[in-house]
Amino acid sequence: VKESGGNGYCFYTNEIKKMNEEKLYIQNSIRKALENNEFTLYYQPIIDISSGNVDAVEALIRWNHPKLGPISPATFIPIAEETNLIQLIGDWVLREVCRQSKEWKKKNMPHIQIAVNISIKQFLQADLVQSISNVLQTYNLDPFCLKLEITESMAMHHMDYVRAQLQSLKELGIQLAIDDFGTGYSSLSYLKKLPVDMIKIDRTFIQDMVKHSYDLSIVRAVIQVAHSLNMKVVAEGVETSEQLKILCSERCDKAQGYYFSKPLLAKELEQLLQNKMKL
Ligand code: C2E
Ligand code: CA
Ligand code: CA
Ligand code: CA
Repeated sequence: VKESGGNGYCFYTNEIKKMNEEKLYIQNSIRKALENNEFTLYYQPIIDISSGNVDAVEALIRWNHPKLGPISPATFIPIAEETNLIQLIGDWVLREVCRQSKEWKKKNMPHIQIAVNISIKQFLQADLVQSISNVLQTYNLDPFCLKLEITESMAMHHMDYVRAQLQSLKELGIQLAIDDFGTGYSSLSYLKKLPVDMIKIDRTFIQDMVKHSYDLSIVRAVIQVAHSLNMKVVAEGVETSEQLKILCSERCDKAQGYYFSKPLLAKELEQLLQNKMKL
């Protein structure tokens, strides 16, 4: 709030200074967090709607800061993205996902594909394909065990490069998904330009489709276009049986959300899968 006179101005710059200091503090903390193993991955089930089976999970990073407590990825990922720290976090996530996948394989768990969120800086790295291929080799894993999620807005801004990068990843045998679909400004026709396997409809549409016919129309259109392009559709943020019923009648393929399960620790997911594959 700018007031007249010197004090208002001073207050304003102090606020910015405080924000920058907080940012720097978080950035330094991220370095330490990587050294001290403060990050954890949680896994949220993705359900095949027609069978009710869990057929994949999405890896979601969690950070328990020793002084500040839990910090949401929605807060620290954008801060990490302003520096090269996002690459370090991204590498850690990929390695940890592969290590976990290998562990589940050794334990004879049912095959579960793991979806990993890739941030734009990481995605634009020239050696991304090589480094993913290296991690897969280190753990002796099939590329099919991984699915990469990139957001729609990201894919749109660097179209040519993104398309080439997606193509190389696809040739490696990795599954690809467009995340948060509907929140960018791309038209549906642009989907045909992307060599992806899956579209994830942003949860705002899933929330609103029950009340607003406009949102339901969008959901319906995305599903129809995606299917005509041989892509599967995941609905994000499914919280109610009413939403699931609509998705079922619209022939949406998969669903993810609190209605089925919140993100779980690896151990908790193991228990869930051992007791029942169905949610
Ligand atoms: P996202 O990729 O869109 O992930 C889905 C978010 O929705 C997750 O939040 C998840 O916990 C939440 N969610 C799942 N089901 C429901 C539901 O039914 N209702 C509601 N209201 N929310 C639900 P989370 O874990 O806080 O992650 C936030 C964002 O942070 C993610 O959005 C993703 O963009 C980013 N992120 C998380 N983990 C990573 C990571 O390992 N790497 C990168 N680059 N980004 C990550
Ligand atoms: Ca995601
Ligand atoms: Ca999403
Ligand atoms: Ca999101």
